[in-house]
Amino acid sequence: MDVQRKLEILADAAKYDASCASSGTEQRDSSDGKGLGSTSPGMGICHSYAPDGRCISLLKVLLTNACNYDCLYCVNRTSSNVPRARFTVDEIVKLTIDFYRRNYIEGLFLSSGIIRSADYTMEQVVSVARKLREEHHFRGYIHLKTIPEADDALIAEAGKYADRLSINIEMPSEDGLAKFAPEKDVRAIRRTMGRLRLKLDETKEANEQPSRARPPRFAPAGQSTQMIVGADSASDQTILATSANLYGAYRLKRVYYSAFSPIPDASRALPLAAPPLLREHRLYQADWLMRFYGFDAGEIVEEGRGMLPLEIDPKLAWALRHRDRFPLDVATASREELLRVPGFGTKAVDRIIATRRVTSIRAVDLARLHIPGKKALPFIVLSDHRPSPHWLDGNLAQHFEPKAQQLGFGF
Ligand code: SF4
Repeated sequence: MDVQRKLEILADAAKYDASCASSGTEQRDSSDGKGLGSTSPGMGICHSYAPDGRCISLLKVLLTNACNYDCLYCVNRTSSNVPRARFTVDEIVKLTIDFYRRNYIEGLFLSSGIIRSADYTMEQVVSVARKLREEHHFRGYIHLKTIPEADDALIAEAGKYADRLSINIEMPSEDGLAKFAPEKDVRAIRRTMGRLRLKLDETKEANEQPSRARPPRFAPAGQSTQMIVGADSASDQTILATSANLYGAYRLKRVYYSAFSPIPDASRALPLAAPPLLREHRLYQADWLMRFYGFDAGEIVEEGRGMLPLEIDPKLAWALRHRDRFPLDVATASREELLRVPGFGTKAVDRIIATRRVTSIRAVDLARLHIPGKKALPFIVLSDHRPSPHWLDGNLAQHFEPKAQQLGFGF
């Protein structure tokens, strides 16, 4: 099989891993001769974000899509009827270097099905990164998927070469993992995440002490994981509680949520349809509330409901359930309180705090502060604005509901 065909198979097989994907943009290209560039990346190329916020393109491939395991939700499971392929270490190294030299990519995202043994597969994955760094002096970004059952020494070596390491937790609950991926061991996953955290903490601590010699480099962009949403019956509440636990216990940089996509010849235990993509989006918004807005996992989803509403974002839904806390006087509210106002992002809150030191804020200033007035005004008091009491007492939810649209006729 030639390398081009392998690339077709192994880049396609890697597309289900969301943990480095950029999604949500429109599809654009310049094939009509107007403009330059495209948002449809080339085969195997995806976009990711570096720790400093830069968007980078990565060659996203599997070493092989053959796998000893039979995780029901996975297109590469051993019982799946898909064409199989396997790159050699040298083939991936060459592809990465060639793509890099042609300016197609700035880095590599490498994952793999498990062949022979966890150690053998991990050794192959590490060999790619080792060759890139040591033989080709490759300084681009490398993200390696880690196999939790692999030997500690191999995982430590992976951290020496990779910018980021990730281990997929896959299912939001242990029951879900036992049902859909019985060969995976949740204890091994958590043990390896715990070891990575220790190593990351040790490296950070040593780097912060100028008197000590610089420690060897270890995954400077930290560790991340991915959870599949909608393959099992786990509620949003369960998913967010699992994420909160992962962030707290292992200090993950990111938990990625990947809406389950139906796969060919799937097990009957799996749903026939994908969950709404909007559910994935709402989970990401809720995740941001936990990481940057001071919300606890337990307060984001309405008690007794289990799921985030799809029609409105989770912060607005929370504010509508806690109207007694509003309206909030923007001139005197604390940063923590301001972060809970619908429409106020973290940067907008910083701008408000800087502005109110020197002047009072009026309704007309919201646009300059990049705050959507329609969303925020019912919840805040400004120097020239106080929301009507009817707003907070009445059916405020209606104010935010998307406008009804006539359905298309299909022609
Ligand atoms: S171990 Fe990974 S590649 Fe193999 S079947 Fe499970 S999810 Fe798929």
